[in-house]
Amino acid sequence: MTAPLIATTAVHSRVNLLGMTQPQLEQFFLDLGEKKFRAQQVMKWIHHGGVTDIGAMSNLGKALREKLLQIAEVRPPEIVSQHDSTDGTRKWAVRVAGGGLVEAVLIPEGTRATLCVSSQVGCSLDCSFCSTGKQGFMRDLTAAEIVGQVWLAIKSYDAFQSGNGRVVTNVVMMGMGEPLMNFDNVVAAMDLMLSDLGYGISKRRVTLSTSGVVPALDRLAELSEVSLAISLHAPNDALRSQLVPINRKYPIAELLRSARQYIDAQADSKRVVTVEYTLIAGVNDQPDQARELALLLKDFPCKINLIPFNSFPGSEYRRPSGNAVSRFWQVLVDAGYIVTVRTTRGDDIDAACGQLVGQVVDRTRRSERHRAAGQAREVEAG
Ligand code: SAH
Ligand code: SF4
Repeated sequence: MTAPLIATTAVHSRVNLLGMTQPQLEQFFLDLGEKKFRAQQVMKWIHHGGVTDIGAMSNLGKALREKLLQIAEVRPPEIVSQHDSTDGTRKWAVRVAGGGLVEAVLIPEGTRATLCVSSQVGCSLDCSFCSTGKQGFMRDLTAAEIVGQVWLAIKSYDAFQSGNGRVVTNVVMMGMGEPLMNFDNVVAAMDLMLSDLGYGISKRRVTLSTSGVVPALDRLAELSEVSLAISLHAPNDALRSQLVPINRKYPIAELLRSARQYIDAQADSKRVVTVEYTLIAGVNDQPDQARELALLLKDFPCKINLIPFNSFPGSEYRRPSGNAVSRFWQVLVDAGYIVTVRTTRGDDIDAACGQLVGQVVDRTRRSERHRAAGQAREVEAG
C-alpha cells in the first residue's frame, strides 16, 4: 500500500463556491440575506467564465463582493504536472487539499473529448487487479475537487471564453476511487457537469462506473440520469468474489437487478448499461467463461467493454494475448452482443508521467495512469 502524501496545503476555512450546486448556492445567498439570483451570476462566472477571483465578478456589486471575499473563495485543485501525448491525450496530476494526488486524463477522439475523472484518493474496495485498490483508501474528494477536474481541463486549454464544449464533451467517472462510496459529492459534481449553469454536458455523455455498491446504486436511480457502467469482470459469483471483494456482500444477481432498475428508471427506453470486463490471462479470459458471460447477460440491456489488464509492479496477473482477447470477443459477438475492446491511449506519456509522479507517490501508480488513459475511449462508443 502506498503511503498518503503528507499535507502541504493550509487548512481552508472559507467556503469553496466551485463545488456548490445551484440550489446549494441559492440557499447560501439567502442565508446571507441576499437574493437567490446571485447564485446564477456566480455560477456563470465560475463555470462559464473560468473566473476564480471574486473581486472580478463585476455584476455582484462592491459590497457583496467584499462580504463574499471574507467568507468564500473559488478554489480549484492544484495541478502538479501536465503531460501531452503525441496522440492528443493530456494528463494532469492534481493535488487536493490535505496533500493527496489524483489524476485526470483527457482523451480527444474526433469530435469527442472524454475526461476521465477521479472521485477518491485511493479506494477501500481492494479489487485484486487494481493498483488504486492496492493503495488503500485515503479520503473522499469534495464536490469541488471532482468538478474542479473539469474546470482545470477547460482552463488548461484556455477555452472558457471560446466555448468549453469543444474541450470536454464527455466525462467518465473512471479515475481513482469508487464513485458510489462518495455518493453525495459525486452526485453534486455530476449535477454541475450536467447543469446549464455548470458545464451543460448531456446526461448520456456523463458515465458513472461502479464495482457494485448496490444500495447506493438503488439510491442513484432515484436522482440521477447519467449513463451507467458496471465493473463485472467475471461470469459467476465464485470468481467475481475473488476479483471484486464487494461481490461477497452484493452478488452478481443483486448488481444486475439494481443496474436494470437504474436503466428502467430512465425516461429514455433505448439506454443500456456498459458492462466492463477486465481480461486477465488464465483467470477470466477463457472461451468457456465468455460463453458463461453470454448466458448470464442474456436479456440484460447492455453493451460489453473488454479491458485487457494493465499490469503494475507487485501484481501477479498478466494481460492476455491479442489472440485470447479476440477469441473472447468473438464468442460474445457471435452471441449477439455489442462488444468493444478498450485500447490504451497516451502510451508515450505514461512513462514520463509515471516517473514524475513516482517521485512523490509510489511507482505502482504508473499502472493507474496507464489504465486511466485507456479508460474513456470505448465507453461512450456506440
Ligand atoms: N471504482 C470504479 C471506477 C474506477 S475503476 C469501478 O471499479 O468501476 C474503472 C475501471 O477500470 C473499472 O472497470 C476497473 O475494474 C478497471 N480497472 C482497474 N484496474 C485495472 C487494471 N489494472 N487493468 C485494467 N482495468 C482495470
Ligand atoms: Fe476501487 Fe474500482 Fe479499483 Fe475496485 S476497480 S479497487 S472499486 S477503483
